[in-house]
Amino acid sequence: MSDNVYSTICPGCNFGCGLYIRENGALEVDFRKSSPANAGKLCRFGMSLPRLYAPVKSMIDGKEVTLEDAAKDAAKRISAGKGSTAFLSFGNTTSEELLAFQKIGESFLCTGINFEALPKDTYRTLSVGLPYTEIEAAKHIVLFIDPYEQYPLIVRRLLSAKKKGAKITAVWWKTLAIADEMIKPNDVSKLALTKDSLIITDFHPLSDVEQVKSVLALAKNAGAKVTFLKPFANSTGAYLLAKDAKQKSLVQLIDDINKGTIKTLFCLESDPSTLIPSETLSKLTNLIIQAGQASSSKANIVIAHEPLYKKKGTLINNEGRAQALGGAGTNGLDALGIIAGAKFEFNALHESVKKAIGISAVDEFTIPKYDRSAYGAIQGAVKLNEAKTALVSVYNPFIWFNLADDNDFVELNLNTVRALKLLKGGTLKIKSNGASIEKKFKVAPVQDNVLITSKKFGIEKGMLTPVEISR
Ligand code: SF4
Repeated sequence: MSDNVYSTICPGCNFGCGLYIRENGALEVDFRKSSPANAGKLCRFGMSLPRLYAPVKSMIDGKEVTLEDAAKDAAKRISAGKGSTAFLSFGNTTSEELLAFQKIGESFLCTGINFEALPKDTYRTLSVGLPYTEIEAAKHIVLFIDPYEQYPLIVRRLLSAKKKGAKITAVWWKTLAIADEMIKPNDVSKLALTKDSLIITDFHPLSDVEQVKSVLALAKNAGAKVTFLKPFANSTGAYLLAKDAKQKSLVQLIDDINKGTIKTLFCLESDPSTLIPSETLSKLTNLIIQAGQASSSKANIVIAHEPLYKKKGTLINNEGRAQALGGAGTNGLDALGIIAGAKFEFNALHESVKKAIGISAVDEFTIPKYDRSAYGAIQGAVKLNEAKTALVSVYNPFIWFNLADDNDFVELNLNTVRALKLLKGGTLKIKSNGASIEKKFKVAPVQDNVLITSKKFGIEKGMLTPVEISR
């Protein structure tokens, strides 16, 4: 392989799709048919990767500097703010960097997930999903996601299962073409599960904990299988490696910044403005971002290392499959070493990663054996949508990475269009908590009193936002 072609993994979600990135003046994406997760196929986001990898430069207070100087200044500010510094990584980088990051930030590590609110014995089920071959072999699949929008490469696995006779039930707000049976989320008590059912849902920093508990309880009570998909390239690796670390949720982090107990935030390969409100970020004394691509947040310090496709290291996909990134770069680890005041050796970290996963070598074609211990019965009441009208945000890779997308509209059904006397080609006014926006709309087979969007509008209060709508 020539020097400027990298065999790599798409960072768009934790599905683990393999691809090639070619540096040929501009970046180009090539298909990698040998990749076990996707056999070369990519979704819209995977094809948009050259846009994601916008170049970034190391900076201190707006002035361009070297990586070394930026890391040294970050080290000073972190050390001066000891006790009021938080460390945030959603898991969008190598397992080796995440281990180094954990060593620096053990006092306040944030993966964004509210693990503390979930029973400890569910940690493994939440962290590592099932092999995709189990999805293809299932007799009854229950979707609590929109596969087309959120994790598009799962659709091929679902079609393969259907071909073998699987029935697909979707518990969702909009009719999904792949489903044989649709159940409204508010009617989830009508869902008939057996031990032959396999539930597919997802788990991320904005997940509603009660909803997660409710899905776990549904699976437990029926003896059904459940797999949680995740939005960041190494979410699984991050959770496996951080299982004994003290973790803080995104909600706790936002609260602590607002209260002033956290004044410095150090983000590793995570753009905080995608998940933390700008008024909260503006309360920080220091925002330090270490990343391999431009971020939409205004940071005091930017430590610019190589983009993910040039890095050396290991990602763990949703099935628990360990995948090697094809690069040789260790700038990110070097910068973390400057901050820690001690060099991090890649090989030593790599050995620790393998040990944590229980493998002797990284082989993307073999899924390691994970102890999928059973979890105890948990109480989970399904959260109903009590709002008269709700905006449903369908989180997808474009939202998670703040990458411009052209789907700037909401979907609603014909009854709602007629009731509001909306005009073809016109707009819809949406109000929530004092904020008001005007959006184009599209008629789609969604439920009454529901608006669906796969775009971030800035008025959301989680996945379901109560709204008022008018012409
Ligand atoms: S499904 Fe996920 S990993 Fe695969 S190409 Fe799309 S965003 Fe990337």
